[in-house]
Amino acid sequence: MYRGLKVCLAALMAAWLGMPVVRAQPQGPAREIIPLTGDLYRARNGNWYTIFLVTPDGIILGDPINPAFATWLKGELATRFKVPVRYVVYSHSHFDHAAGGSVFADTARFVGHERMLRNLDGRYPHMPGDMVDRNNNGAIDPDEIDIPTKAAPGVCGMGPGFFGSIDLNKDGLVPPAELQTDIRRPDIVYSERMRISLGGRTVELIYPGLNHSDDATVMLFPAERVVFATEFLADALVRNNPRSLPSTCSAFDRHPLAEWIRSYRTVEALDFDRVAPGHGDVFDKPVVTETREYFEYLVAEVSAGIRSGRPLAELLKTITLDRYKGWANYERLRSMNVEAAYFNLTRYR
Ligand SMILES: [Zn+2]
Repeated sequence: MYRGLKVCLAALMAAWLGMPVVRAQPQGPAREIIPLTGDLYRARNGNWYTIFLVTPDGIILGDPINPAFATWLKGELATRFKVPVRYVVYSHSHFDHAAGGSVFADTARFVGHERMLRNLDGRYPHMPGDMVDRNNNGAIDPDEIDIPTKAAPGVCGMGPGFFGSIDLNKDGLVPPAELQTDIRRPDIVYSERMRISLGGRTVELIYPGLNHSDDATVMLFPAERVVFATEFLADALVRNNPRSLPSTCSAFDRHPLAEWIRSYRTVEALDFDRVAPGHGDVFDKPVVTETREYFEYLVAEVSAGIRSGRPLAELLKTITLDRYKGWANYERLRSMNVEAAYFNLTRYR
């Protein structure tokens, strides 16, 4: 939901566009295992990343991402480490990170924030980007994919052909269960914090608040001083420069900007050095603070604009966010940030 959709939309779009091609081109998305520190590793599927910690008693894994990747990863882990996956921890429920867990069901338990159960119970789930139930029929219609795709291609919508790829029975409608066919529900949930201990090692799970999703988990590896989170510490559009304006779909995913800021502060309060994000390169903790400061600046600027009574069209021109001109995606996303903040601050207080 690219996060942003911050779904990670650009990444999503590329991946979904690539899906039919994968069958014709055996190489598929780039996959690799990347050492982080000690027994902690990232694993990559194109621009999607997960994380895992190897202990003498088994592996604690982050997102399974999708069935093909999970199958590949399971083989790699068996060959390299010779211990089974004991836990799968979901970063959030969005379909592009949470699918494929069943591959590990013979040895693993599945852990997620408690709101994942609501998002996987057959009702319309929280979706990445601007994919929302526009006609309130409880199912995903072609329009609900195509409207955001055309309005903000690669940012808040999927690529052309995406709907067809999720409409497995080709009846023109995708009930949530059809989209979530490959997502295995968590069998352990928590509300605020949880600790997993295995083989003498620990991983802390933290619910940060509402942001890109409503059921996020941040994984903290205390001994390794690394945090894993997807799409809200770094936007899904981010590749190698983590200092980026965020994508702003659904006016920041219909979650109050105060909650976004709270989410960043929750992570800032943790003791760690590096973030291994679900998309893009590893970055250092100070970027978390800088991004939270960006959100605060955006809120201050747009709040002042709202108080001035000037119309949105004027604010879009005059709120230039000059301080962030050097950040990635400034030209592409500045006015979208101002508009989204305007709607967020007036609708989601
Ligand atoms: Zn997402």
